Amino acid sequence: MTKNKNKKTFKDYMWILSVTYLALGFFNILFAWLGLLCFSIPLIISLTGHGKAYCNTYCGRGQMLDLMGNKLKLSKNRDIPKFLRSKWFRYGFLTFFMTMFVVMLFNTYLVFNGTNGLKEVVKLIWTFKVPWAWTNTSMVTPWVAQFAFGFYSMMLTSTILGIVTMLLYKPRSWCVYCPMGTMTQLISKAKYKANSNTSCSSCNSYSN
Ligand code: SF4
Repeated sequence: MTKNKNKKTFKDYMWILSVTYLALGFFNILFAWLGLLCFSIPLIISLTGHGKAYCNTYCGRGQMLDLMGNKLKLSKNRDIPKFLRSKWFRYGFLTFFMTMFVVMLFNTYLVFNGTNGLKEVVKLIWTFKVPWAWTNTSMVTPWVAQFAFGFYSMMLTSTILGIVTMLLYKPRSWCVYCPMGTMTQLISKAKYKANSNTSCSSCNSYSN
């Protein structure tokens, strides 16, 4: 009997986790804390010598963009502009993203020490403040909720950027400048300079 090579496994359904995560934030912002897993797991995988296994196999967002672009045919499927692929843009965007992350942590600290009050807003593209007060945060201390608002803002913002680049260019064009992808790429390069097999096949071909 021949084995069905197209048989799906749980790894093919990671996109459901990404969609569920985004949806949960609409009901209760505190679920945003779960996003720390998306932040730490790729780094742990790379640091423990598994290169870009997260990008290649487990990233729900990458799969989600792939499905939207290829299965739902939402992508224009054009090549991404050269400047978005350039090192200066990718490292510049990573630096900007991490700076915004630190600012978000500082804002959380200001709420923690009582300097600022809790701001129940989600900030999109680091600019547009969307009121998000319907989620009940009264069961936690304000800084815990503030972190959730800040982190969810980052996750939603990066999803929007991912979807916009998916619509305009190839489905996984976001992967070209995704900060997590850039960081795991840097770690992989540093750890396995001599090993050419550590690149992310899904992310570096940009052909999906
Ligand atoms: S580059 Fe980013 S979005 Fe793409 S697969 Fe890797 S972690 Fe996921």
